[in-house]
Amino acid sequence: MAHVIVITGPSGVGKGTVIRLLRERVPSVRLSISATTRAPRPGERDGIDYHFLATDDFDQMIADGAFVEHARYAGQQYGTLRSELEEGDDDGDVIVLEIELQGARQIRESMPAALQVFIAPPSFETLRERLVGRGTDSAQTIDERLTVAREELDAQGEFSEVIVNDRLGDAVDALELLVQGQLRGAVD
Ligand code: 5GP
Repeated sequence: MAHVIVITGPSGVGKGTVIRLLRERVPSVRLSISATTRAPRPGERDGIDYHFLATDDFDQMIADGAFVEHARYAGQQYGTLRSELEEGDDDGDVIVLEIELQGARQIRESMPAALQVFIAPPSFETLRERLVGRGTDSAQTIDERLTVAREELDAQGEFSEVIVNDRLGDAVDALELLVQGQLRGAVD
């Protein structure tokens, strides 16, 4: 069985960038491609960034038991497909689930051995600046995401590991150490 690492943190904290840099350093890290009902952003590709699904199809897949976790976030549905976790079943593989808080809680129940990492911003204000600066979301969406972000920040104590993404390189170093520790655990 591959090692599962859950990475949670508020929108705009830089999870995607930290994970991309981690994967450049540790090639055995695979990213689970989630399903979502939200529309693709410019440049996002179906089957690569997400499996983009119609709401009816998403609901049908919930009914079919296709998800290991799923949650509603800012008016849209997101979920981790069971098939994504079944693909890599090598002891030396790490599968990263980049998911929000409710999904992380579900995985904590169903897969207690999975490492749970929370990526935190240096401050709430830096989150707002990053979301506005990213330029991918409307003002209303940014407000929704910041409201959710407050709840997520309040829950960071639930996570066994918290990494503050102040300097990007340091955050990637910290995550790499955790991942290498997981992999070494598999060998011992
Ligand atoms: P975005 O719309 O910015 O791509 O993602 C919004 C939020 O949904 C992020 O916090 C992201 O981590 C989370 N997310 C992405 N995929 C999943 C998933 O499969 N399950 C859950 N629970 N959250 C997800």
